[in-house]
Amino acid sequence: MKYHNLENKLFFSFDKNYSANVKFNKPDKFRELEKLSIIENNLINTGSNLSYSPLSFGKGSTSILLTKFNRIVSFDKQNKEITVEAGMTLSQLLNFTLKYNLWIPQLPGYPFITLGGAIATNAHGKSCAIHGTIRKSIKKILIFHKNNGWLNLSENENKEIYDLTIGGLGLTGTIVNITFNLAEIKNSRFMTRKTKVANNNDCIKFIKKKSIEKNSFIYSWNIADNINDLGKGIIFENIPIQSENKTDKVNIFDNKLGKYLRLNFPIWNKFTVKIANKVFYLINGNLKRQKNIENFTQVIFPFYGKENYFNFFGKKGFFESQLLIPNENLDLFLDEFKYLFKIHYPTITLFSFKNMSGAQKLLRFEDNKICLTIDYTNNKTNRLFMTEIDKICIKYKILPSLIKDSRLQKITFDNCYPNADEFRKKLKLFDKDKIYKSETSLRLGL
Ligand SMILES: Cc1cc2nc3c(=O)[nH]c(=O)nc-3n(C[C@H](O)[C@H](O)[C@H](O)COP(=O)(O)OP(=O)(O)OC[C@H]3O[C@@H](n4cnc5c(N)ncnc54)[C@H](O)[C@@H]3O)c2cc1C
Repeated sequence: MKYHNLENKLFFSFDKNYSANVKFNKPDKFRELEKLSIIENNLINTGSNLSYSPLSFGKGSTSILLTKFNRIVSFDKQNKEITVEAGMTLSQLLNFTLKYNLWIPQLPGYPFITLGGAIATNAHGKSCAIHGTIRKSIKKILIFHKNNGWLNLSENENKEIYDLTIGGLGLTGTIVNITFNLAEIKNSRFMTRKTKVANNNDCIKFIKKKSIEKNSFIYSWNIADNINDLGKGIIFENIPIQSENKTDKVNIFDNKLGKYLRLNFPIWNKFTVKIANKVFYLINGNLKRQKNIENFTQVIFPFYGKENYFNFFGKKGFFESQLLIPNENLDLFLDEFKYLFKIHYPTITLFSFKNMSGAQKLLRFEDNKICLTIDYTNNKTNRLFMTEIDKICIKYKILPSLIKDSRLQKITFDNCYPNADEFRKKLKLFDKDKIYKSETSLRLGL
């Protein structure tokens, strides 16, 4: 039997490196979700499809789009608890909770990301050094699985599947409802302080020292367009303004993504990156501008309104790599990075450090380590350079993000994620037919 209401569309990964013609449906009710899941076979769950890597679609799979599952199920102000459907976006959630001075502090940086997508990737926000990942705010989850039916998941109920689901890339079934423990937020404005740093070492030292101070969100922007200035840059600290007691609405207009420039040719190249870096450093390093007030949207969703940064990579797209580096191997990693940089001279458009906290388990991108984010233009030299970095990741026990890097191979994944096989075994026990599959899950052999 076939499900009749399927639509077709060409889906792209956010980094544009993979596309596939995808069959999809947007169920609106429990029984529609059940019917679609029971009739179709190669399924995968899809939020807003904003993952850099193709996590929520693949060739031959049917995507269950959760767009219509975006309702508030219940809200308990007294106990600071909310139950929402998984297709709800971050901005939809915040525009409700902020009215009550409540929020979740572990929000990834773009307002149209869904809560289901954030949980299935165990997403984190700018304040991950103090608040960890979204896992910390979850109380319980309701999923529907084609073969296993409806299941309540929490620390006390179906704990194994609860653990597999958080950061489980949508492979344990459809997350339908989530109950969150909300945290208080007194105001929604931040004072942003900027500090210049001369190199990677100074930058990391500063970030480590500052990020343990409660309440400041801290990350860096570093130059990586030439070997002499590698790591020179600016550290940004977002400090909540304690004197105020007021939260504003999230200032988001509907799907901004659709409105940004669509370019077929790339703007980013060695020359334009150099110019952009010089201008950015000049503006942000200016002493007069070292402190300024920013609103909630500017701080929590830094890419909102700056989408052309991604579009400037053109049709060919880009690569993002996010690495969690153990403190004891940081110097060794940076030395080898520098050595390889001199040989390959890659074109890097973003180089940024932040501190992270948490406990790594299964597929989760989480640990007490330094997180380095790098964006590359899509060309042969950069791909070769990234392959060399993969080898260093294995050597120095560095964790590469599966969500960000769409070219990551199974061999790197197997060698960097100590629980890769444990995840496979547990998933197989739960779902021997491996019903839910994406390009990424197949590439990584999950
Ligand atoms: C501009 C930008 C900034 C970002 N910033 C950050 C950041 O700061 N920190 C961070 O951690 N990440 C960040 N991300 C990555 C983002 O948080 C994740 O890729 C997130 O999963 C995207 O959500 P989505 O709704 O688009 O999910 P999709 O991309 O559609 O899906 C992602 C995964 O979740 C699964 N999934 C989605 N919905 C469900 C559901 N209801 N049930 C079961 N599984 C489901 C899918 O199967 C897939 O495996 C950023 C992405 C962008 C584009």
